[in-house]
Amino acid sequence: MEYSLIHNGTLIDGTGNSPTYNAAILIRNNKIEAVGAEDSITIPQAKIRRIDARGGYLLPGFIDSHVHLMANGFKMEHTMYNPLSTFFFNSIRNMNLTINAGVTTVRDAGLADYGVKKAVQQGLVVGPRMQISGSPLSITGGHFDFWLKSGFDMKISYPGKPDGVCDGKEGVLKKVREVLRAGADVVKIMATGGVMSANDHPEYSQFTVEELQVIIREAQNRGIKSMAHAHGVDGIKNAVKAGITSIEHGTYLDREAIRMINEKDVYLVPTLVVQKINKIHAEEGTIPEYMVEDAIRIVDIHRKNMKKAYKAGVTMAMGTDCGVIEHGVNLQELGLLCEIGMKPMEAIMTGTKVSAQLLGWQDQIGTIEPGKLADIIISKKDPLEDINSLGNPDNIELVIKNGELFKDLRGV
Ligand SMILES: [Zn+2]
Repeated sequence: MEYSLIHNGTLIDGTGNSPTYNAAILIRNNKIEAVGAEDSITIPQAKIRRIDARGGYLLPGFIDSHVHLMANGFKMEHTMYNPLSTFFFNSIRNMNLTINAGVTTVRDAGLADYGVKKAVQQGLVVGPRMQISGSPLSITGGHFDFWLKSGFDMKISYPGKPDGVCDGKEGVLKKVREVLRAGADVVKIMATGGVMSANDHPEYSQFTVEELQVIIREAQNRGIKSMAHAHGVDGIKNAVKAGITSIEHGTYLDREAIRMINEKDVYLVPTLVVQKINKIHAEEGTIPEYMVEDAIRIVDIHRKNMKKAYKAGVTMAMGTDCGVIEHGVNLQELGLLCEIGMKPMEAIMTGTKVSAQLLGWQDQIGTIEPGKLADIIISKKDPLEDINSLGNPDNIELVIKNGELFKDLRGV
């Protein structure tokens, strides 16, 4: 039995409660045993590892509900020139950057497979706790069909990774079963076109409502949730009608779509940081030409509509699309959530408690409460004073995942 005591910090526990000063957290093995003001905690008569937070801010490990751990920009030349193994080696660096940024749990929105998840679970590599979707489902010629007009197919393929392209009610049923067989914890569906694909536009819907229903129901039958990449408003509405758990991006939301989302308790994952950084890359000319126009065009519309959705009370979870953009910038999303109207405390809850609910892991992670897994970070600066400080990994002094120390800058 191993105890740790984190002390001498200010606690922001993710529940929305106001901060506790001179707080401490008692950890036993991988779980939180007690938390609160330091003098309220009974210290066991046992050997204890003491971790001095040195006046820092104790927060739950953050949850990014939209990343691509195995992607580094989705550039087709990577698929052309890089051996398959480099995608896995790159993911090791990407996962390190993610942990280093203070993110201890992710939902991978496409590419990371069962082996990546296993490798982290077994401690072979450092990485966040994860839910994987494996292969996103896409229509022929849709957002995750990498077949080019030249006739070359640029998809990454290997045993254990089903090809996600499917059409028609029977076709999508077979495909969702293949994805579930490959170990998907969540089913990712491309319900509209996207920015990073060569053959389509973000506005147009992909899959019919009937096809979406078949996919979502088959997943639900096994207790599995679904997430829809959706920019265009018709695709958003189709996915909501069909029973989707979360809408990703949501760029062209209108009033009716917002009403439907609220009525059916669907989560919205705005991914503001990818829009922001994509636009910068587009203006710098550092993303492929076929992405530039879409990337610039949608950013202002997206932000305006996210403000509208926030005002209308839509439940938002935190997601970034890291992998499309660089890894490790995950918590820059929190500052951007504040720019659409959130208070810092609310942005923190969005990235912890609410995202845990979206993943269905609210009993295990998302807040610092007794009985939960010990996923804890220490921020050097007060995030309630300066929410953007969390976006800089240098301010994340310490990261504990599942009771285990993965980062500690205090001695540096
Ligand atoms: Zn994505």
